[in-house]
Amino acid sequence: QSAAAGGDTIFGKILRKEIPAKFVYEDDQCVAFNDVNPQAPTHILVIPRKPIPQLSKATDDDEQLLGHLMIAARKIAANEGLDKTGFRLVINDGKNGAQSVYHLHIHILGGRQMGWPPG
Ligand code: 5GP
Repeated sequence: QSAAAGGDTIFGKILRKEIPAKFVYEDDQCVAFNDVNPQAPTHILVIPRKPIPQLSKATDDDEQLLGHLMIAARKIAANEGLDKTGFRLVINDGKNGAQSVYHLHIHILGGRQMGWPPG
């Protein structure tokens, strides 16, 4: 799996623009696009260009990138006006985390009241 190629998942194909997605943010290290099956009025996925499969496979060398993703999520939430109302970030990891796409991503969910604990 080559980092330049973006990895071999559906998100790799989105990164390479082989399949369409509505991009809401893009920089040198990450991109963000609307989730195809939104679970809230705003549901955006932030993904690194580097194809880390899941958070538990990240290493100490990814510290800067992981911080970058969090700051990007904060900027995107503000762009969407979610900083005024609050929002939720989610990272699903592995089977029990209900991860379905093995390219690390942060879900940004907002525009409605969330419940806790999650299901
Ligand atoms: P996970 O369950 O792995 O944390 O989340 C994967 C997310 O990717 C799901 O919310 C799912 O709706 C979304 N997703 C899966 N395939 C596509 C796709 O082709 N395009 C977009 N925009 N989102 C997708």
